[in-house]
Amino acid sequence: MEEAMGGSGGEAVREARLWKPLSGAAGESAKVQCRLCSHFCAIDDGGKGLCAVRQNQGGALKTLVYGLPSAISVDPVEKKPLYHFLPGSRTFSFGTMGCNMSCSFCQNAQLSQSPRLGRPATGHAVSPQALVDAAAQSGSKSISYTYSEPTVFFELVEDTARLARARGLKNILVTNGFMSPECLDALGTAQDGLIQAANVDLKAFTEAFYKDQCGARLAPVLANLAHMRALGWWLELTTLVIPGLNDGRAELAALAAFIARELGTDTPWHISRFHPAYRLLDTPVTPTETLLLAREQGHAAGLKYVYIGNASGAGFGDTRCGACGALLLEREGFQARGGLVDGCCGSCGTALPGVWA
Ligand code: SF4
Repeated sequence: MEEAMGGSGGEAVREARLWKPLSGAAGESAKVQCRLCSHFCAIDDGGKGLCAVRQNQGGALKTLVYGLPSAISVDPVEKKPLYHFLPGSRTFSFGTMGCNMSCSFCQNAQLSQSPRLGRPATGHAVSPQALVDAAAQSGSKSISYTYSEPTVFFELVEDTARLARARGLKNILVTNGFMSPECLDALGTAQDGLIQAANVDLKAFTEAFYKDQCGARLAPVLANLAHMRALGWWLELTTLVIPGLNDGRAELAALAAFIARELGTDTPWHISRFHPAYRLLDTPVTPTETLLLAREQGHAAGLKYVYIGNASGAGFGDTRCGACGALLLEREGFQARGGLVDGCCGSCGTALPGVWA
């Protein structure tokens, strides 16, 4: 895919959006504050924010990854994972380097953490127009901003998503949900703005986990989930269940209860199996019993669509009608088939929550 798009005119450094100069003592006037994510980094001239892909250059904040995706692919939308959004369709997917979190268990650390570790952000110089052209040519129905954290390449998301909408493509964020409220407002509503759907990682349900394992905070993520819901985005949540870190019954029950209470029982929750990665190479794979325990907590909280991912087991990825229990989408790998008719149950006619056309 990259070869097909090579040399199509991207640029890496350009003025960032969502920042302000910080007035300080004499001689400190070149300091700026990035307003893109909930870290709200205050950055001295020449310095970079925590994500390491936004830099203060002479009193103006610059993004270092505009038009510089490092990973580009065409995926089934189920891989994001989104199970209630145009099932069976392809989504053109890309991401740049950089992340505003530093998760110890990151499954994509080479992409997300390299800039933080002092390596320059690299990628393929590609313009938003070339990305949208490639997406349309690939037969995709949507573009997914994914692989690392799309918040930190916001300017590229914004320009690409605008062109994509004009081309009839939908836009999907796969995100940790730690952006700022201003960032969400800039992305706008599902109907009139840029983003129609998101898969958001709700990584745990304690501030200690977010602080110690991710270098971030839980509270802004919870507030942003409600904000995204108010913007009308189709939302699905993912929790990677890690042995010994976020797998207690009480924590899983509280997390599931939050989803049910604040986002609604129709919100799909994806429970994902952990495999050793990055700085957690000695932590074991999540046992199947733990995944089943998490699913049990989801059902007990009233969630109608709870899925187990990164694991094989009978019915782990299947969608059943929330009213009559009929099997609507039977999933093997990322393929889906079954008794969904125009977004409704083929047996009882109840509408399945989601976006189907
Ligand atoms: S995106 Fe977040 S981490 Fe990066 S500079 Fe802005 S506030 Fe800091």
